[in-house]
Amino acid sequence: MATSLYIHIPFCKRKCLYCDFYSVIYDNGLATAYIDVLIPQIEGLNQQFSTIYIGGGTPTALEETLLSKLLKSLQKCLKQDTEFTIEANPESLDEDKVKLFLDSGINRLSIGAQSFRDKKLRMLGRIHDSRKAKEAVWLASKRGFKNIGIDLIFGVWEENIEAWKKEIEEAVKLPLTHISSYSLTYEKSTPLFEAVKNGSVKPLADDLAAGMYEAAIEGLAVRGFGQYEVSNFAKAGYECRHNLNYWNNNSYMGLGASAVSYIDGVREANIRDVGEYIRRMEMKKTPVVSSEKLSPVRRAKETAAVKIRTRDGIDFAWFKEKTGFDFQELEKRAIPKLIENGLLKYRKENGILTGVHLKRKGLLLCDMVSSEFL
Ligand code: SF4
Repeated sequence: MATSLYIHIPFCKRKCLYCDFYSVIYDNGLATAYIDVLIPQIEGLNQQFSTIYIGGGTPTALEETLLSKLLKSLQKCLKQDTEFTIEANPESLDEDKVKLFLDSGINRLSIGAQSFRDKKLRMLGRIHDSRKAKEAVWLASKRGFKNIGIDLIFGVWEENIEAWKKEIEEAVKLPLTHISSYSLTYEKSTPLFEAVKNGSVKPLADDLAAGMYEAAIEGLAVRGFGQYEVSNFAKAGYECRHNLNYWNNNSYMGLGASAVSYIDGVREANIRDVGEYIRRMEMKKTPVVSSEKLSPVRRAKETAAVKIRTRDGIDFAWFKEKTGFDFQELEKRAIPKLIENGLLKYRKENGILTGVHLKRKGLLLCDMVSSEFL
């Protein structure tokens, strides 16, 4: 049984130049049909979840009436202590939506601020400016949200470390509990990838981007935002439980176009086409286009690959209990190499090795560490 529920809202007002998440340009007719096929699925769920996350795309691109219908259908999936998150973009968050969210039991808001520099926002193809991003945070806070997070991107071409440090300073002055900070990547099939290919954009040197990452770790730590995962920082007690569920490799259910579910070791992905998703649901056909039953060893290795991203790293006793495998035995080829290369460190208690976690260099090269475990 899944402990977390994810609902994908695949609509945006405009596509950002770096984005490879599945979403299409907002169309009210399509969005209405989409919500109309999602609701019966939600109503058919006979369970409550520890965490619910409505992401996208841009959930706040939906008109208020559609959001209201969606949120109403989710009420019976809530428990007393469900962490209930919705993603919001600055340009489409207003007083009425904030009120609706609070009235519907949403207790965590994740705002796609991305930057507090207007030029950088324009370079990324965002449609809001920095004033709007700050206004969105203050609006949510003044109306009663106690748990507000933002996303910030660094490592944009032509960016310098001083400008980035100023953005961190601006972020920590806001009433925030959580900051996710990602280095810009140039994903295939995005306009920015093409711009790099044709030479009109020159990515920042790796060491400059690494310096920005270190500046984020240090700048956020002194303001009380502890790093609890490679790209995530939170005030104590505000770590995102929904994401921790992924990094603990626990089960989750995904609803909507392109959403992925992982239940009892079976991973299933829905079709990445909103029109086709609606058609299939209307015809009572499955939206699943790929399904894979993971072997126990594969599950254990995937657990290692995601759990290592967290501040706590991998505790050997936890790993054995969770997967049935001895971590040191399972990864006996990878561990010495990663330790020798200064990426991983043993944790010891009373002289006994109890686990491993990433060193500073390992945080920078986390994807490489994870791939060694797979
Ligand atoms: S708003 Fe978010 S999901 Fe939509 S295109 Fe931009 S980055 Fe992607």
